[in-house]
Amino acid sequence: MSAGKRPKDYLSEYGLKATQPRLALLDLFLHTPGAQTAPEVLAALTARRRLHKVTVYRMLSLFTRKGLLRKLSLEGRADYYELAGGSRCPHPHFQCQRCGEVQCLEPIDLSQLLAELHGPRDNLALRVEIRLEGLCPKCRDMG
Ligand SMILES: [Zn+2]
Ligand SMILES: [Zn+2]
Repeated sequence: MSAGKRPKDYLSEYGLKATQPRLALLDLFLHTPGAQTAPEVLAALTARRRLHKVTVYRMLSLFTRKGLLRKLSLEGRADYYELAGGSRCPHPHFQCQRCGEVQCLEPIDLSQLLAELHGPRDNLALRVEIRLEGLCPKCRDMG
């Protein structure tokens, strides 16, 4: 988001009408770095206003369809989302297998990999996701 752009304009760029819940959802992602699970988003949004769970989950899938959010293929019971679009390139993620913490890693060019991995000739591969799994520094220290 360029400096000074109003959240309302940000939504309309993605073809979304501004409503209070949508603005709250956008605000949350703009001010919380990294990926968040759907339950985390729900907890944050319902802490200060009355919103139904279904409304929040519907907004998450709508934002994802419109390209404002990206849904990540990570382990765990919950879906992870992060801001997409603009200069926010897809990037690998590191996930701790003990505490589940997710870290966004530096974007790397995956086009070569995508070209080599497309499988049968008629496939049209559009996206590749990389998830690294291991132990975060906190969990390593616990031995
Ligand atoms: Zn950990
Ligand atoms: Zn990320």
